Amino acid sequence: MVVVVKPDVPQDKIEHLVKWLEEKQIIVRTFQGQQQCVLGLIGDTNNIDSGMLRSLDIVESVGKLTEPFKAVNRKIHPDDTVIPAPDGKPLIGGGHFAMIAGPCSVESREQITLVAKKVKEAGATMLRGGAFKPRTSPYDFQGLGQEGLDLLLEAKKATGLPIVTELMDLRDIDRFEQVDVIQIGARNTQNYDLLKEIGKLPNTILLKRGLAGTINELLMSAEYIMASGNENVILCERGIRTYEFAHTRNTLDLSAVPILKKLTHLPVVVDPSHGTGRVDLVPSMSYAAAAAGADGIMVEVHNDPACALCDGPQSLTPEQFTEMAAKVFKIREAIQ
Ligand code: PEP
Ligand code: MN
Repeated sequence: MVVVVKPDVPQDKIEHLVKWLEEKQIIVRTFQGQQQCVLGLIGDTNNIDSGMLRSLDIVESVGKLTEPFKAVNRKIHPDDTVIPAPDGKPLIGGGHFAMIAGPCSVESREQITLVAKKVKEAGATMLRGGAFKPRTSPYDFQGLGQEGLDLLLEAKKATGLPIVTELMDLRDIDRFEQVDVIQIGARNTQNYDLLKEIGKLPNTILLKRGLAGTINELLMSAEYIMASGNENVILCERGIRTYEFAHTRNTLDLSAVPILKKLTHLPVVVDPSHGTGRVDLVPSMSYAAAAAGADGIMVEVHNDPACALCDGPQSLTPEQFTEMAAKVFKIREAIQ
């Protein structure tokens, strides 16, 4: 249920209503906008008489929340969520665009330091790099693990860029304390135990769409994180499995961007690197993502893609990234 409170109602009257609802075992999410206060009622609302709520002198309207996703639903949080950076400035959302770039995997100090420096110069706002890698083959490079995390933290210190890196296993959770944005990869989007645990952390979470995940499933996974208390969730469209595999690694679903922006207040980023698997398609899909209203893009950049230990064919060189980023920023300006 969604209760819209009349403008200028005193705070104590709203609190009184919230308390009464909570006594009825309802979880109330209060959205306080500049003009409006909206109460999202979550739980078994069958015992709540909507007609009675509507008749209260402080209530403007009462609506239904028919979707299975509640906390992430834009109906109970009309404004975009703006996620803060560690320094308190906006990191992403509400018009703040995130340009996330870096290698698929952290491979060495030289590699990550060089790439971090280059992408920062080109306007990147965050540095990505995998330390724990989910690989299809157990014989492929699995990431540098703790050493990779340490190198990423060094690159963060050197450039000031917040870092994004993937957590796969609950047992590693304590290692991620200084990681600004914890990525939950496509293979773990529906690992609900993992989602519940990261929901208790203060770190921002970047949640990827599952390999065969629907938009509602992605939103329900985000709901798990928010239901555990973590409000700072970024959604990521990274392509899904379809019957096309001859020409692209995945099918990048750019229509998901405006759909998600309508359904949820959470920021949405697009990853055209995994979404296509082809470096030649990354620029055009990045431009399209920016034009579609994405709050950011995340792309793989490697100093020597031909020798990359992971995902070289979809990685931009720093020079290619520089050229592309400038155009993405121009498209952002044009559509604003
Ligand atoms: C990645 O970003 O490095 C990655 C493994 O992505 P995904 O989970 O989307 O495959
Ligand atoms: Mn990759």
